[in-house]
Amino acid sequence: MPTKYIFVTGGVVSSIGKGICVASIGRILKSQGLSVTVAKLDPYLNVDPGTMSPYQHGEVFVTKDGGETDLDLGHYERFIDVELTRDSNVTAGQAYLELITRERRGDFLGGTIQTVPHLTNEIKDRLISLAEKSEADVVIVEVGGTVGDIEGLPFLEAIRQMRNTVGRNNVFYMHLTLLPYISASEELKTKPTQHSVKELRSIGIQPDALICRSDTEITRSIQEKLSLFCDVETEAVFPMPTVGNVYEVPLIMEEFGLGSFLSQSLNLGGKRELREWYDLVNRMNSAERVVPIAIVGKYVEYPDSYMSVREALRHAAASCGLRAEVRWVHSEAVERDGPDEYLKDVCGIVVPGGFGPRGVEGMVETSRYARDKEVPYLGLCLGMQVMVIDWARDVAGLRRANSSELDPDTEHPVIDIMHGQRGITDLGGTMRLGQYPCRPQSNTQMAQAYGSGWSEINERHRHRYEVNNRYRESLEASGMVMSGLSPDGELVEAAEVPNHPFMVGVQFHPEFRSRPNRPHPLFCALMGQAGNTVREGKQLPFNRSGWWSFSTQ
Ligand code: GLN
Repeated sequence: MPTKYIFVTGGVVSSIGKGICVASIGRILKSQGLSVTVAKLDPYLNVDPGTMSPYQHGEVFVTKDGGETDLDLGHYERFIDVELTRDSNVTAGQAYLELITRERRGDFLGGTIQTVPHLTNEIKDRLISLAEKSEADVVIVEVGGTVGDIEGLPFLEAIRQMRNTVGRNNVFYMHLTLLPYISASEELKTKPTQHSVKELRSIGIQPDALICRSDTEITRSIQEKLSLFCDVETEAVFPMPTVGNVYEVPLIMEEFGLGSFLSQSLNLGGKRELREWYDLVNRMNSAERVVPIAIVGKYVEYPDSYMSVREALRHAAASCGLRAEVRWVHSEAVERDGPDEYLKDVCGIVVPGGFGPRGVEGMVETSRYARDKEVPYLGLCLGMQVMVIDWARDVAGLRRANSSELDPDTEHPVIDIMHGQRGITDLGGTMRLGQYPCRPQSNTQMAQAYGSGWSEINERHRHRYEVNNRYRESLEASGMVMSGLSPDGELVEAAEVPNHPFMVGVQFHPEFRSRPNRPHPLFCALMGQAGNTVREGKQLPFNRSGWWSFSTQ
């Protein structure tokens, strides 16, 4: 079978869940035995989101090969249960950089370089090469932004050309829009969708199907109206109501027949089997016991910054028959008011990754609180570093210990820049990135979490600083356990506090490898311990109104 391409564009407004829809389509197709890969085309000029603020872009998702990518890749990996690479995220910045580098080298000598065909060819080549390398039956391509954006035009032109390049029977165009509800007239409006499709057609793309997001029911007459004005079969206008749990989306799509419509249109074989997914969603939705877990970070006003952490907590909770209720706690608020104010009612604490000094002292205090009060704690990257800093200051007697990232003049840089990283001044793509091996040390909480049979694990990294080997001896002499090491023993990959229900910090980001059907062992260990505290009834219900708190379901 030739590779099939499904292109998904967005219309009307952004942030209506295009990434989730693409991921869900992937899940449906995978469930019928097809191999699926996904690409996200991002029209911005940054080469990757690695240097962008979490406030602007949300989480930077790290692939196993060290790509710093859009958070939508996280949805794809979680829903489809695949491991993608950096090739799955193409930005305008990357395509331009490649072209201009070649131009400077003289590759085009004599030629004029143009958006069409040079830029569009570059984009198409990347998609075709992804298809070849992955050997996938189906490549789903999400075009970032909304139709009508100036910067998106080269991408739309490229996907328009793809129909001729790979054959029209191998291409399917899907357009995702919003039907706004007008309360005065109590109806859903189709006009913005009509305009968006008109815009798409003006650049030569006729959608084969529409996915229509709405907060209320989409009636048959609305489907018929859209069919008439947008020249799409009525059966190909798929409603997508707002749901409480994003993992329900593949099931809703299946219910509306999207899987069979795609299979017919692209001539795909196989029978879909979503039973397992259905059970999974059921397990998530039926879990009643709520476990409050604090995520203490400095970007908590914008929870997208911690997308994978939140999802990993949900996966782990569901696997223990629990429901994680994430409480977003600002580390600067902990600094200001003390940890008790925000943490006294939680059953577990996660301190996630981060960069720069703002709010870090609040995280160190959080770590101390978790240690003193025996609250289950998982530190992710910076969350591990603050745990080591707290221990160094409070237990190992290194009073002014710090990370040299946070205080370059610190007397005791227990966290310091790695040897090979000295002298690097570029910020983009220069960290220790991607998958590296780690050996859990025996008789540790870490080894227990992963279970026997894992003498070596591979986890994804994104950081510049490490535990300073000069201080390892004094940290260990005072009782801290270095529970995960690189195979050569040179790098501390995990540390933990002994005689604690669960207090583990890891230099890597386990959250990127958690799947709803395969929750990550470290998150499960945290959740298991947190769940015990709830079961023992030690915790009081949380009643602070207005604090960044909501159920993750
Ligand atoms: N800022 C720290 C470092 O670079 C931690 C990074 C992170 O948490 N991802 O090492």
